[in-house]
Amino acid sequence: MKIFKSKHKLKEEISNIKNISFVPTMGGLHKGHISLIKKSQNFKGKTLVSIFVNPKQFNEKKDFLNYPRDLKKDLKILKHLKVDLIYLPSLKDIFSFKVKNKIFLDKFSKKLCGRSRKGHFKGVLNIVNRFLELIKPKYIFLGIKDFQQSHLISKHILKRKINTKVIICNTIREKNGVAYSTRNNNLNNNQFKIASKVIKYLKNKKRLVKNKISNLNLYDFKKDLMNLGVTKIDYIEFYNLKTLKRPKSKKENFKIFIAFYLNKTRLIDNI
Ligand code: AMP
Repeated sequence: MKIFKSKHKLKEEISNIKNISFVPTMGGLHKGHISLIKKSQNFKGKTLVSIFVNPKQFNEKKDFLNYPRDLKKDLKILKHLKVDLIYLPSLKDIFSFKVKNKIFLDKFSKKLCGRSRKGHFKGVLNIVNRFLELIKPKYIFLGIKDFQQSHLISKHILKRKINTKVIICNTIREKNGVAYSTRNNNLNNNQFKIASKVIKYLKNKKRLVKNKISNLNLYDFKKDLMNLGVTKIDYIEFYNLKTLKRPKSKKENFKIFIAFYLNKTRLIDNI
């Protein structure tokens, strides 16, 4: 396992490597990240994992400061997984070069998290665009848990004709149904139980609403979730993943997208 803190050293190392499978992360590694890394290791070539908590994608400084970090534990996990290359850039290292490609921000960025986290996706694309330019990976591995993020990155790659294939990976969940997330580290036991109740509620509702998808009352959902102990709901919406519109007939496949707070911790999921 080779660790790089400088883009110049990293570029030198990878200049002769043809197939790089890239897994970008913000650290605080969990089984979700591990599944992406293991998947990338099934591809030919070398796996490169980055750890960088990108301040530009946090719309609140407090949230950035409270984001759980544990580099020592992360490196232990990556070593155990025998990851080839690790990139741990500093803010200066990653932001101190001029990029060739301008960010392409698809209109879907205005929905869901785009509404409640101003500037978030611009910040995400800024950093991913930089990573792509520096690393030129053959594949990038992204989780469907952050569906909107992976969709917008895919659109940017397509629009800017970047030669990287996006591999979308399934959401890995705890036994109680809650998706693994670095932010779960900020939950206490009671909040973790409420999160589990939220996921069970949504799974159940998804099954029940299929037949009356056209006349859903989301207000009732919000009321029920607040009664379960949720502090605040940024959004709960139904989307057909193909049309990115609310489904109108029961024949359409859809997912429920949610962003909610348990005290100060914001969680997102799609079911
Ligand atoms: P993050 O470190 O939260 O920025 O996540 C890095 C990557 O891991 C993103 O592509 C996420 O979508 C993905 N990811 C996060 N949580 C999970 C999970 N529970 N299962 C699968 N992938 C995940």
